[in-house]
Amino acid sequence: DLWQGIDFSRSKAEARVDGSTGVKFCDVAGIDEAVEELQELVRYLKNPELFDKMGIKPPHGVLLEGPPGCGKTLVAKAIAGEAGVPFYQMAGSEFVEVLVGVGSARIRDLFKRAKMVYIVVFHVSISLENWWCQVNKPSVIFIDEIDALATRRQGIFKESSDQLYNAATQERETTLNQLLIELDGFDTGKGVIFLAATNRKDLLDPALLRPGRFDRKIRIRPPGAKGRLDILKIHASKVKMSDSVDLSSYAQNLPGWTGAKLAQLVQEAALVAVRKRHNSILQSDMDDAVDRLTVGPKRVGIELGYQGQCRRATTEVGVALTSHLLRRHENAIVECCDRISITLSQLVFHRLDDEAYMFEREPQLLHRLQVLLGGRAAEEVIYGRDTSKASVDYLASASWLARKILTIWNLENPMVIHGEPPPWRKSARFVGPRLDFEGSLYDDYNLIEPPLNFKLDDEVAERTEELIRKMYGKTVSLLRSHHAALLKAIKVLLNQKEISGEELDFILNNYPPQTPVRVLE
Ligand code: ADP
Repeated sequence: DLWQGIDFSRSKAEARVDGSTGVKFCDVAGIDEAVEELQELVRYLKNPELFDKMGIKPPHGVLLEGPPGCGKTLVAKAIAGEAGVPFYQMAGSEFVEVLVGVGSARIRDLFKRAKMVYIVVFHVSISLENWWCQVNKPSVIFIDEIDALATRRQGIFKESSDQLYNAATQERETTLNQLLIELDGFDTGKGVIFLAATNRKDLLDPALLRPGRFDRKIRIRPPGAKGRLDILKIHASKVKMSDSVDLSSYAQNLPGWTGAKLAQLVQEAALVAVRKRHNSILQSDMDDAVDRLTVGPKRVGIELGYQGQCRRATTEVGVALTSHLLRRHENAIVECCDRISITLSQLVFHRLDDEAYMFEREPQLLHRLQVLLGGRAAEEVIYGRDTSKASVDYLASASWLARKILTIWNLENPMVIHGEPPPWRKSARFVGPRLDFEGSLYDDYNLIEPPLNFKLDDEVAERTEELIRKMYGKTVSLLRSHHAALLKAIKVLLNQKEISGEELDFILNNYPPQTPVRVLE
């Protein structure tokens, strides 16, 4: 029997004893408001009887909501760590099984274990006395990615002809129902706290968010400059970092970076330092690490031939040059390109500071749109009508940005498109690509509310196209008047494989607008 000996109903949740998560609030930075709110849970976990006596109802469940990597798991562990209580962690996806009944059995098991914390005692070092202390003692149950398990129940899609689909949907619903039952039936007086994390609150079944369930929501946001500095300091303290490294400059220049990314930065810098046989992490190692993490892996897995390199160079120079030109001639506040590398085939942008991003106004956003269209525009200037797919990523980002300018940001003549859409539209929710600039991280996971009706939907599409055409036309004429500079920059990039922002500026100085192209021949 294939299944023999496997206990499917057993939840895989790990229990750890007495603050052994080892995480404290001092390990968390940049989300001070959330931490402040969560302090109360620690006070409760430390002394549930007091709360009981005072007649204070503790929160039943707390939903931590926010983009990935901002420290939701970390802060959940810190609560258990501070209070010195066991921490049970499971991912929502672990409950989602194709076998009917398995998910709900796992939920039952997880809750049973949290209520009777008997498993904790299997650690040999715990004395009998401690053992008894553990039973029915406060604990923290943490369900990560709860959206995987508790997505909105589908209702109208129930009758599908696909049997496997039906079974899976049914299983998901049984699991969710079991979770709701457990939440409702839980005696909160016992000092057990439920924490759940999601980055897609919009997908959650509303039943889960009702009073008595996950009725407290705490937003975990990406850190600001000061938060980033504090996070960097925490992670720098765990490695050997030279005192000469100016952490605050990194904190300033990396808007949108989450705690996870900053932690990764320090780790990466440590690896670079080891590779270069430095005794501690130097500023140059940090710079290297930033490059690695921003430029990322090669965008194309294949070695480009000469023609391919030309196309790529054209689009990348087009984007970069557009940003420089807009800065020069229109005083635009856009990111300027620091460096283009043809081998890594991506731009390294000098970023704006937090405030500039947060309060981007219409002209700024339209400039950003033009920058994204610069790749295709450059192709048109150089190759005429013979354009390729080379700038497709930028184009996707551009249409996404244009749509947002017209809809959720309501910057061009406001169009009312918000409101609770009918359920069948909700399921057709469109999640677009990320913008190329880190700034997009501020925009709530790039989600667009679907419009209220199809007529508006069409109108949005039409106006998006109109806006893009208009900005594209402007960009083409901007680059056309700088044809010579564009061509020169492409040539330099192809020769040197790399070009810096200063070199671009130098070329623009030497080849003013309307310079005839033949000077290059
Ligand atoms: P999430 O659960 O929100 O996806 P995690 O808590 O798993 O994010 O974060 C991953 C890692 O990134 C953490 O273990 C920690 O090293 C680092 N990190 C994330 N956010 C923070 C923060 N606010 N302060 C310090 N470190 C952080």
